[in-house]
Amino acid sequence: MDIYKQIWKEIEKADNIMLIAHINPDGDALGSSLSLYPVLKKMGKKVTVFNATKPLPQYLDFLPNFNKVTNNLPKKIDLTISFDCGSFDRLGLEEKPSFLINIDHHVSNTKYGDINLIEPDYASTSQVVYDILKANGIEIDKDSALCIYTALVTDTGSFQYESVNDRVFECAADLVRCGAEPDYVAKMLFQRDRLSRLRLLAKAYETIELCCDGKVAFVEVTKEMMEITGAIKDDTDTIVNSVRALAPVEVACMLREDDEGIKVSLRSKNYADVSKVAVKHGGGGHIRAAGATIRDEFDFEKVKNILKEDLKEIV
Ligand code: 5GP
Ligand code: MN
Repeated sequence: MDIYKQIWKEIEKADNIMLIAHINPDGDALGSSLSLYPVLKKMGKKVTVFNATKPLPQYLDFLPNFNKVTNNLPKKIDLTISFDCGSFDRLGLEEKPSFLINIDHHVSNTKYGDINLIEPDYASTSQVVYDILKANGIEIDKDSALCIYTALVTDTGSFQYESVNDRVFECAADLVRCGAEPDYVAKMLFQRDRLSRLRLLAKAYETIELCCDGKVAFVEVTKEMMEITGAIKDDTDTIVNSVRALAPVEVACMLREDDEGIKVSLRSKNYADVSKVAVKHGGGGHIRAAGATIRDEFDFEKVKNILKEDLKEIV
């Protein structure tokens, strides 16, 4: 049977369904998991939207049913569906809670589910969810459309990345017909900035270091910078993207001091496959956006030197 139909058969069979996305969720992770909530509720299912991270990123609080997301595991689970999560450890669970459907678009996905629907050419996981709903003749209501559309916007950098093609715009157009309002989403995502974030940007930009003929740029975010500016983790999300925007840069790399170690975020512009570098350091992601955490390591210079060697090979 077609995997899109097979997934729906499993959903129809289950009464208690848990929707889950990766830790430190982004717009695609939360948007994709929340997009199925109204659909499954309408089918009479008991639905839990789980995320191990607390607090959730505030900038996504406009997604319908955002306040239903919980970090308490339900007692009874017949079926778990994971969204946008490349590896089991990023779900933040001790063990597999039930039969598991893994829906994702990361090339590095380790196929940890009982059913794995991985579409690396798709712009967002939400686009895969859209196809599942379409393949099964399910009506997309305004709330679902808003979630799927928001995930599409955030994962494509507002329709700018190479993943954007005619099918993405067709999907977006249909979501608008279903009730998603692009100006509302844009205002919610991009016109509610925090002063602490701008103050943090100013500090982080001072640390920018170029190497490899300007093709590689590093930027640093320390705990001290976060404390002084009052910034939170969400505020660091797009720093690496703006550093990539420098004219000569092919790969931008942000190093952030976390409790567990140094979080590395990698972005490339035209040709470098940064997912390979992330995977080498225990992380993963996409060709143009990937990340990893170097655990129990807090020396920025040391990590930079290691990464310089890796990045030299790909730029
Ligand atoms: P970011 O740099 O924004 O955290 O992540 C960029 C991309 O890499 C996202 O698609 C994210 O899911 C993935 N990613 C980031 N950190 C990790 C990690 O530690 N492990 C894996 N497997 N993927 C990661
Ligand atoms: Mn995604």
